[in-house]
Amino acid sequence: MGNIAIIGGGPAGVMAAIVAAENSKQPVDITIFDKGRVLKTILYTGNGRCNLTNNLTNFKELASSYPRGEKFLYSVFSQLDVPKTIKWFNDHGLELYIQIDNRVFPVTDDAHTVRDLFLSLLNKYKIKIKENQRIEKIEKVANKFRAYTADGVVNFDRVVIATGGNHKNPKIYNLVKDLGHNITELKPSLFALTLKEPNINKIAGISIESANIDTYFNNKKVYTTSGDFIFTHKGVSGPAIFKTTAACAFLDFSNDKPLVLKINFLKDKNFDTLNQEIIELVRDNPKKNIVNLVKQLIPGGIADYLFDKHLLNPDKKAAELSKKERNKIVNMLVYSEFCAVSPVFDSEIVTAGGVDLKEVNPKTMESKICSGLYFCGEVLDIDGFTGGFNLQACWSSAYLAGIGAGGSRHLL
Ligand SMILES: Cc1cc2nc3c(=O)[nH]c(=O)nc-3n(C[C@H](O)[C@H](O)[C@H](O)COP(=O)(O)OP(=O)(O)OC[C@H]3O[C@@H](n4cnc5c(N)ncnc54)[C@H](O)[C@@H]3O)c2cc1C
Repeated sequence: MGNIAIIGGGPAGVMAAIVAAENSKQPVDITIFDKGRVLKTILYTGNGRCNLTNNLTNFKELASSYPRGEKFLYSVFSQLDVPKTIKWFNDHGLELYIQIDNRVFPVTDDAHTVRDLFLSLLNKYKIKIKENQRIEKIEKVANKFRAYTADGVVNFDRVVIATGGNHKNPKIYNLVKDLGHNITELKPSLFALTLKEPNINKIAGISIESANIDTYFNNKKVYTTSGDFIFTHKGVSGPAIFKTTAACAFLDFSNDKPLVLKINFLKDKNFDTLNQEIIELVRDNPKKNIVNLVKQLIPGGIADYLFDKHLLNPDKKAAELSKKERNKIVNMLVYSEFCAVSPVFDSEIVTAGGVDLKEVNPKTMESKICSGLYFCGEVLDIDGFTGGFNLQACWSSAYLAGIGAGGSRHLL
């Protein structure tokens, strides 16, 4: 009978443990070590609803949702893609539903349901759980792994590292480095942005549906995306901003060198089409205040804010609008510039960077440096956009790590 240590009891570690137990041809003794409580992180996901995957059925398209790890994930997802993941959860009794935007949630809309399913499976397979036990050191001696645990030194045949990401405390990666692995540069990803804008708090809480955002750094366009976002007390957040920050995670922007967001509040319009629309609005409503006409196009609070920012007189009658003023209004709606100077403190959702993928076999998740050692989840140099992609990377990599560590070649 072999024994396996799983270091980290987040979604990845727990999935790997269950898959190893379910598929192993021989009995295996599995222990999960967690420095805190197992499955704590899953309860925060999807605002407590657990957005556990995204219904992208083509695995190449799925992989393109990861700014880091795309190529590596081809191989991983070709073995466990989204339909197989959904089937896995369904077969284990978890009913899911697909939202209109492709995000997948448990029908209960409650992350506790996912945690409870995993806890019942850990119990069913008699997987040992050691909570409040941080593992700081593992050595490979001959064919065995020697783990330094609170109960003393314990030998294991195989080890799965699922310690998650942590760009703030690179020391947590020492465990992996000591086993011979390289850790790529670590940065936060998927965060809200602080804007260098006066009175931004005046528009906090106003959300914009379907804007287009071109991002510039050092006068060069670095990213374009579209989607929803929201103004906050300090800046901007929401899906389109998370996509932008994931794509720009490794750009060192600051107060002196900001990321410049050029926002088109009216995604389907360009300068010419909007200019024409405003000419017509003015012609049809000559006595109306110009700001009220703009409020027919964008949320009122944003219109007031932009008029103030661009020193435009909101009370001017439409008929009195000069061509120069009209051009200014059109420009501020389709190319509105905002300077982002830093991530909002503690707003990041994942870590970009981690275990160097060159050193891991994408078919098995086994280390190419140290046999019997496996990786899964966010500890790897893999991170995705929001929308269930990060958990999907956990499920797929953990599935392979569980199969490998459990000594089975069975794939779904
Ligand atoms: C607020 C929030 C919401 C999110 N929502 C979503 C979502 O809806 N959908 C989605 O796809 N992704 C979401 N994510 C991202 C997702 O939660 C992570 O990508 C995922 O949890 C990573 O899983 P993991 O198991 O690799 O690592 P983690 O969940 O970080 O788990 C790692 C575990 O390892 C333990 N550990 C670390 N070091 C040691 C050690 N030395 N010894 C013992 N134990 C150790 C930790 O205590 C932890 O329990 C969200 C993240 C956040 C912060």
